[in-house]
Amino acid sequence: MKRIAILTSGGDAPGMNAAIRAIVRKGIHEGFEVYGVKYGFAGLVAGDIYKLTSQDVSDKISRGGTFLYSARHPEFSKKQEVEKAIDNLKKIKIEGLVVIGGDGSFRGALALLDEGFPTIGIPATIDNDIPSTDYCIGFDTALNTVLDAVDKVRDTFTSHVRTAVIEVMGRNSGDIALWTGLAGGAEEIIIPEVEFDFENIANNITKRNRNHKKHNIIMVAEGTMKGSKFAHILSKYGDFEVRSIELGHVQRGGSPTAKDRVIASKFGSQAIEAFKKGKTGVCLGLINNEIVQNDLRDTLENQKHEAELALQDLNKEIS
Ligand code: ADP
Repeated sequence: MKRIAILTSGGDAPGMNAAIRAIVRKGIHEGFEVYGVKYGFAGLVAGDIYKLTSQDVSDKISRGGTFLYSARHPEFSKKQEVEKAIDNLKKIKIEGLVVIGGDGSFRGALALLDEGFPTIGIPATIDNDIPSTDYCIGFDTALNTVLDAVDKVRDTFTSHVRTAVIEVMGRNSGDIALWTGLAGGAEEIIIPEVEFDFENIANNITKRNRNHKKHNIIMVAEGTMKGSKFAHILSKYGDFEVRSIELGHVQRGGSPTAKDRVIASKFGSQAIEAFKKGKTGVCLGLINNEIVQNDLRDTLENQKHEAELALQDLNKEIS
């Protein structure tokens, strides 16, 4: 296999550019020609594909987002769209594709594989919710962005003795709330994986306030409910001031941390190693700090992402 392409799809994640850079540079080093597809699967169907040079990825490692752009293209679940995409790839003799994105994007990769086109997936989503990997590109950067906000909220909420409900992203996963809750010294971490009780939370806040605690930070993962709704209901259970803050898309941007750049570079390099060995139909993962190749279909059909719920227990013990 000598000519491959890359696309980024779904929600963007800081570090995607570092992964593209590694695939292009290592690919060229190993004798591949590497093409970029713009706008994810939408661009693949439209034939928006161009050759990438080493210079094209210069000055990209420190940038958030994806310079290949991303898009949602729900029509890609239709067979005709997948066939059109494969025609476009074959027309320019591309023999393999790297899909960088979340689990939705991996389903698009599997659709291509089902029609006989060799693909490899690289996990990249701040939600960190892809099965068969401990880590997805972008998670660390998002954590640090959220943590910075939590620290700032604490400063001002302490001055006013307020309770803050901070809604963070994560889709159906509580990973961002768990990690930033523990790292940010939050009093409560509310995630979709674990049930909670408003009355209990309100009683804890009242108790802490009686003990002259000056702030209460409650991290709410978006998969549980809207932070504003959570704050509204909570306020009915006690006599304290609650405000909600939705951090929103700031969580997805920003210059990637060293961890995201390094892991993205390793994933990119390993994608080329896999193509060299003709090993496709896999998605890369990080397990116990080792890069692993998982079967793409098995990952999507049989595996489940497990949040590290022990972080919530530890937080209860030390907050
Ligand atoms: P993420 O990759 O971040 O999870 P999405 O779930 O929005 O993001 O998926 C990104 C894109 O992947 C979709 O817009 C679509 O083009 C493609 N995709 C998602 N699910 C499927 C599917 N079942 N079959 C084919 N393509 C899919």
